[in-house]
Amino acid sequence: MDLSATPPKPAAALAARARDLLGMWYALDLWPVAIVWRDGLEGPAGIAWLEERTIELDAHLLARHPRRIDEVLAHELAHLVIHARIGPDAEQHGPEWRALLEIAGVRATRFHAMDA
Ligand SMILES: [Zn+2]
Repeated sequence: MDLSATPPKPAAALAARARDLLGMWYALDLWPVAIVWRDGLEGPAGIAWLEERTIELDAHLLARHPRRIDEVLAHELAHLVIHARIGPDAEQHGPEWRALLEIAGVRATRFHAMDA
């Protein structure tokens, strides 16, 4: 399905927020990050592709829960930062990851799947 006409939130707004978050986390060296809407991730609201620095967000799911878009974006983006800073052995939802979400003022919840 082509979602380009009606994404739950414009890609440019997502990119701006992601850049702001990286700034808060002293991680602007990781910019740019690609943020793309997908249809049918089959469960997860978002997926972080760590090596590719790409975040996929489920358009259908988040269209029904638009207030959670920012939460999912920050959740996935924090995974990219932890991967870059600590490496593949980092605990996925460990204290460093939670600290980033606290800085961002975002709830640390788990409702997605990861590729790594
Ligand atoms: Zn996660």
